[in-house]
Amino acid sequence: MIDPHLPYSEQLRRRADRLGTMCVHAGESPGADGALDPAIVMSSAFAFTSAEHAARAFRGEDDDTWIYGRWGNPTVRALEHKLAALEGAEAACATSSGMAAIAGVLLANCEAGDHIVAPRSMYAESARLLRERLPKLGITTTFVERSREAYAEAVTEKTRLFYVETPSNPTLGIVDIQAIVELARSLETGACGARGRPRVIVDGTFATPFAQTPLALGADLVMHSMTKGLSGHGDVIGGAVMGSRALVDAAQEAIVKGFGGVLAPLSAWLVARGLRTFALRQERACATAAELAAALAAHARVAVVHHPSLASHPGHALAQRQMHAYGAVLSFELRAEAGVDAVDQGRKVLEALRVATHAVSLGDVRTLVVHPASTTHSTMPAETRRLGGITDGLFRVSCGLESSGDLRADFDQALER
Ligand code: PLP
Repeated sequence: MIDPHLPYSEQLRRRADRLGTMCVHAGESPGADGALDPAIVMSSAFAFTSAEHAARAFRGEDDDTWIYGRWGNPTVRALEHKLAALEGAEAACATSSGMAAIAGVLLANCEAGDHIVAPRSMYAESARLLRERLPKLGITTTFVERSREAYAEAVTEKTRLFYVETPSNPTLGIVDIQAIVELARSLETGACGARGRPRVIVDGTFATPFAQTPLALGADLVMHSMTKGLSGHGDVIGGAVMGSRALVDAAQEAIVKGFGGVLAPLSAWLVARGLRTFALRQERACATAAELAAALAAHARVAVVHHPSLASHPGHALAQRQMHAYGAVLSFELRAEAGVDAVDQGRKVLEALRVATHAVSLGDVRTLVVHPASTTHSTMPAETRRLGGITDGLFRVSCGLESSGDLRADFDQALER
């Protein structure tokens, strides 16, 4: 879906143009008082007009009736319409964080005895959920390489979910979504017991719907940390689940109603405000990421750069086929120097940066740089980190909206020290 014969900047412009109107208008219409922005409805409970009205609402016969903030809220609902439009989904459910979305989807789709297949290299907290927390509930996971063959080999008659994170955090590994969907569909009859084929769930946080739309490739559900590129300003924690009405409703019942992972109305309003400029922000951040990746790849102090825009990236051709853009996050490794400690060397580079900010998270207006081995992925066992390619000299960079030239100069001067 990325045409190698067109300049990348032109592809980004076209993608932004395709989403621009949706970003501004989807899910929004002036309120009764004419206010253009949706109201931030802060009420925890809503009045019924009659006993019959209340009874109808509880029987689920009245879509327009609000009952209680954990069961639904007009500000959150407006955001969900916008999210569904951007992802091309039938339905969306906003949640209190990305982890609430992920944990809820796993628990809504699995029960004791079930089995999940997931990639070895992924966001550490999601991996920890699968590796440490779910086994206590009788739900086990096999961690595999990113290929269809590896997923296929791990299948048992108890396999309920194929978990995909693409591009992966922090090494930007690309999983072939369509191949995993085809594998799941080939198991439609029998191989996975009476409950049917495994479902394909995709954490699309690194791509955002600007760069990738997994539902169009056949995935069953997409999960996002809205804390990142969707809200885009680093001022909110939130998550989302998108997919068919039936699967999203089931996830919403579990995550929001059952486990209480409700998004606050103010947070929903902030995400919706961020989304109005989503396409423009992503157009610029994705362009900067590709420019910075190319500049770092040419730098003598850098051993390797992980970004699917680079022809040297093992997922480059696949990313061209399945993505609309290469995304705004990259990672790179410093070239090892004899007698120099990789972590110490990395610390010096981080401390020398002046434009990029040393902080966790991603998808912010600010460019954020982090050292995964000592921070975001420190809870992952060292051997698992090594197998997942997360070396001690690896940095993750989430490109923001600063001038691309200023950023390249900033990394240049920090690497020269
Ligand atoms: N998924 C990925 C790929 C992430 O990088 C993160 C957070 O960094 C999450 C999920 C969790 O999101 P949240 O922090 O909003 O719970």
